[in-house]
Amino acid sequence: MFAKTPEADFNCDYPGYSGLWCRLIMAVTSYAMTNNSVAVIHGPANCAWAVRNFCQTDYSLYYGNPFLHMPVTNIDQDDVISGGADKLIATLKEVDRDYKPEHICVFDTCSTALIGDDVQSAIKTAQKDCNARIDYMSSAGFTTPPLGKSIEQTALSYADMMEAPSEKLENTVNILGQYKEQQDCSPVPGKKKCKNRRKYKDDASELARFVEGIGLQVHRVLVSGNHDYIKTAPQAMVNVISCPTWGFPLAKKMEEQFGVPYIKQCIPIGIEPSKKWVMELAKFTNKQQEAENFIQKELDELMPVFEKTKSFVDGKVALIECGRNSQTAFARPMALALALQELGMQVRLFGLHPLELKAKAMDYEYFMQEGFDPLILDGNYAYQQPVNIVHVIEDLGLRQAGYVYFTQDIFPAARGGVFDPASAPRVETGVHLRRVLNAPARGVGFKGAKALYENIIEAVMFSARGSRPTLYGRVHGGFYENF
Ligand code: SF4
Repeated sequence: MFAKTPEADFNCDYPGYSGLWCRLIMAVTSYAMTNNSVAVIHGPANCAWAVRNFCQTDYSLYYGNPFLHMPVTNIDQDDVISGGADKLIATLKEVDRDYKPEHICVFDTCSTALIGDDVQSAIKTAQKDCNARIDYMSSAGFTTPPLGKSIEQTALSYADMMEAPSEKLENTVNILGQYKEQQDCSPVPGKKKCKNRRKYKDDASELARFVEGIGLQVHRVLVSGNHDYIKTAPQAMVNVISCPTWGFPLAKKMEEQFGVPYIKQCIPIGIEPSKKWVMELAKFTNKQQEAENFIQKELDELMPVFEKTKSFVDGKVALIECGRNSQTAFARPMALALALQELGMQVRLFGLHPLELKAKAMDYEYFMQEGFDPLILDGNYAYQQPVNIVHVIEDLGLRQAGYVYFTQDIFPAARGGVFDPASAPRVETGVHLRRVLNAPARGVGFKGAKALYENIIEAVMFSARGSRPTLYGRVHGGFYENF
């Protein structure tokens, strides 16, 4: 599938899509994880509303900064002829005066990029009269339509906000690749470090537990914190990675630009991947003994539930959906597949658009290098249309008790009496909706693995009910996207 799909650039005429996942949305939502900052959208009001709408419905409710200010330069028909640079300069000065942020980031849009507004010069001019540091993130929607590419470009922008380190801090580690996660996991300088991280953990909290568990210290979790926090990230001895799509591009750039090496393991879901993640970091920092002790303690607690789960899924197929409505998820379903294979399940991934696979070449290369090449079901997938899971089950000839469905997105499929958790086991692994007490929602690490196993047992047991469909299956089952 990877080899057959052409390069995912904006000249690509492979049947797919153009700009549905606008780069502006990816860029602004990543910036929404920062503190004391304002995003200035340089474009028409409608672009700003597209991002605000996304933030309201799919972001701030669950993750990151509960409210990011996003004033807009409000480019109109006249400005696209005469240029919008003056409006941008005026807006930047007003934002600096009224909001008094530490940091302002300018995001351009299709119209201002097409007319070639000189954003950098406008920033230079405004900067003379502003206290806030002003940066620019290229984000015009048309420039990188496939989601994976758009993330790659956005992640690189954070290296531009960093400075060469005047000192290196011994035994310190940055965690890269955090996106859409809860902000208070990050120890922001000047703020009390949140030791008792929220009861609903994120991936960064579990990876920070690994880092601290082997006697190292977390320096920065990116993207998060204020400008000073981001700027000083290159002081760390080494970078480790959570999500590869966000993490690898930034790690590579930080290595090139500031000489910070990075550990190649990432997104550790399941026992072996978690062990590898910890051991690779331990080898680099000469903490092998500490790591072995740490791992042993974790496994003592985990193995009984691992064995129990294995018996529950014996002979079952894992149906892993790669983004129900978006067909964009790749790294996380793959990492999940690795963990489910470890439990002895046969894994089948579906609902992945070939262009999205192609646009996530970095993730693809990572799993290939790990020797993990599971079966991904290809098909006539209309982009952004959910794949009918009942057809997938029929095509594979699966019995009702023969599979477990793993969701990866919002609005997971369900229809009372047809395909419902009361009769078909399903585990909610979509990052938007999954919340587990005291375990990272996205499932990394030993705590994530334990929560995943417990959820599988629960799902299989619950599906034995057979009758009386769930409320979700009865209400949501009538939605257009369900079969
Ligand atoms: S930047 Fe382009 S793709 Fe994004 S919302 Fe504006 S016009 Fe649409």
